[in-house]
Amino acid sequence: MADCIFCAIVAGDAPGHVIAEDDATLAFLDIMPFARGHTLVIPKVHTEDFWSVDVPTAQAVIAMAHRIAGLHRDSLAANGVNLFQATRAVAWQTVFHLHVHVIPRWDDDSFVQPAWAKPMADPDELATIARELRR
Ligand code: 5GP
Ligand code: ZN
Repeated sequence: MADCIFCAIVAGDAPGHVIAEDDATLAFLDIMPFARGHTLVIPKVHTEDFWSVDVPTAQAVIAMAHRIAGLHRDSLAANGVNLFQATRAVAWQTVFHLHVHVIPRWDDDSFVQPAWAKPMADPDELATIARELRR
């Protein structure tokens, strides 16, 4: 798609440090990394976000993210990884070509987790939400 930086990377029209690719996906380093080796996995075909991707493409993206996570473990001696995906601006999406962040983690890294310091849910509320979601 015109004016999409990730489509430009796929086409070779913009620079990108490609780590791996297959028919459907490309994995390359994030230009503003959270950590050394922070990698983005994208479908090669322009797809806006996780709501618009078809399931086979989503599976290909996740399979590539799994491959990259293994590279983080085997080549960078990562002790863990975080996967992150933002769909729509409200969820902090800033590039509107679907991507999954694969972020290597180390025992002694300095990341904190304020967003995950969360209280226990009310059991009745959990039951209500589960009913709303099951269709
Ligand atoms: P989002 O905020 O949409 O989840 O993540 C977009 C990511 O794309 C950001 O982490 C940002 O650093 C990265 N990014 C933005 N522009 C470029 C670029 O031109 N090249 C690369 N490699 N990464 C980019
Ligand atoms: Zn694109």
